[in-house]
Amino acid sequence: MMNFHVLTLFPEMIAGGMHTSITGRAMDKGLITLETVNIRDFAEEHRKGRVDDYSYGGGAGMIMQAEPVYRSWKSVADRIGHPVRTVFLTPQGRVFNQRMAHELADGEDLIFLCGHYEGVDERVLEEIVTDPVSIGDYVLTGGELPAMVMMDAISRLVPGVLSNSDSAVTESFEDGLLEYPQYTRPDIWHHKQVPPILTSGDHARVDRWRRDRSLERTFRMRPELLEKVQLSPQDRKALSEIRVQEN
Ligand code: SAM
Repeated sequence: MMNFHVLTLFPEMIAGGMHTSITGRAMDKGLITLETVNIRDFAEEHRKGRVDDYSYGGGAGMIMQAEPVYRSWKSVADRIGHPVRTVFLTPQGRVFNQRMAHELADGEDLIFLCGHYEGVDERVLEEIVTDPVSIGDYVLTGGELPAMVMMDAISRLVPGVLSNSDSAVTESFEDGLLEYPQYTRPDIWHHKQVPPILTSGDHARVDRWRRDRSLERTFRMRPELLEKVQLSPQDRKALSEIRVQEN
């Protein structure tokens, strides 16, 4: 069970994205819940829903004010009633990966704060954020898509969300490698035949073939990942053959 709480200026964007497909089904089954909190609802009375203001020191772009963000966060944190991890989506954070998804999937509640415009007043970030997280080295217009990316990756790891047929175990990154290539019917398409070993019924050879293809893909696309993977003597032999073929 995982309860997501998202502080945002665009709740409809989050709700629309999350209520579809596998995450939508998980919500219907009560395996995950989603609460969106509109930060505008916590704007100061006289500002009529406005929560941004000019940047002290000058410069282009508006900054989200501390107080509405704080009050929206407190409305959730008080209800939860115990300390809860608060993720701030920011290009300046630690870069999200599968290991972090596992770590965050361990808890029961997660608060996400989505920035917009030029950013958020630093003082409120100092008070409420436990985990500044980036989804990659590029800049988006807001934290809503990054929050959805994280919630999607975390939801898949919540027990019961994936059926056996979409099991997460063999997925890319789960064993530190990229996944092997996949095929489905028909066995010949555009004159290309499915690798015969996959239809041989010899499970041990299929497993070895898949492991070798995983090693090969990782070597080609993300060689730096191989430095952190536990390799068996067979893996090492396969890798040295792949290296020879590449040269
Ligand atoms: N001025 C900020 C900076 O240079 O760090 C960037 C602000 S960005 C235009 C607006 C908001 O989008 C950010 O506050 C953040 O919530 C979100 N955002 C943009 N890129 C992101 C990324 N790569 N990962 C996570 N959040 C991001």
